[in-house]
Amino acid sequence: MPHIADTIRSLHASLPEGVELVAVSKFHPVEALQEAYLAGQRLFGESRQQELLQKIPLMPEDVRWHFIGHLQTNKVRSIIGKVALIESVDSERLLSVINSEAGKAGVVQQVLMQVHVAREETKFGFLPSELVDFFVSGASAKYHNVKYRGVMGMASNTDDDRRVRADFEEIYRTFQSIRATAMVEPDFDLVSMGMSHDYPLAIAAGANLVRIGTAIFGERNY
Ligand SMILES: *Cc1c(COP(=O)(O)O)cnc(C)c1O
Repeated sequence: MPHIADTIRSLHASLPEGVELVAVSKFHPVEALQEAYLAGQRLFGESRQQELLQKIPLMPEDVRWHFIGHLQTNKVRSIIGKVALIESVDSERLLSVINSEAGKAGVVQQVLMQVHVAREETKFGFLPSELVDFFVSGASAKYHNVKYRGVMGMASNTDDDRRVRADFEEIYRTFQSIRATAMVEPDFDLVSMGMSHDYPLAIAAGANLVRIGTAIFGERNY
């Protein structure tokens, strides 16, 4: 799979300073992840709990994992403490379960709050105003076993670059509004947006984590 290693190396060389690559490896076999690892990739994104748990013991210990998919509350316990970051906190109910499971496990779980801006489809997440409110109102402060690290979002799935750019800008503005509330700490500093087809626009709008799957590993066979 020379394509994987080449793409990892060229992404590492071309992403701007300060932008980190999440290699989205869902639905791909562990051999593909190992190929990426050998090319220098250490951060992987998975979107299904069971698949993640199967892959973790098969990869070297210095791999960091991000959970990036919709997470069911009954699956939270099994991944707490095993992932560096849960990027996809899409409801207060999920957050509250993450908080209590982290408490029981004696860890602080780092999270991103998922912002919903895309126009179409059933995408998960908080509306921008809802999410800003969650911090302004102080509701965020009751969860002591999570560490808020930033926001995650997706743009509308369209060829219209103006729409995509506007979506990314809205996610970034939401991030800035939350920072401006002073209800978060200085390490609330991560903006995860941009996938294979739109990551350059996301970076232009302020992303510092990009989640790239297909461009590295090829099409997924569901
Ligand atoms: C699958 C997935 C990606 C990667 O998408 P590609 O188009 O394959 O790069 C990024 N983010 C999330 C949340 C995903 O589920």
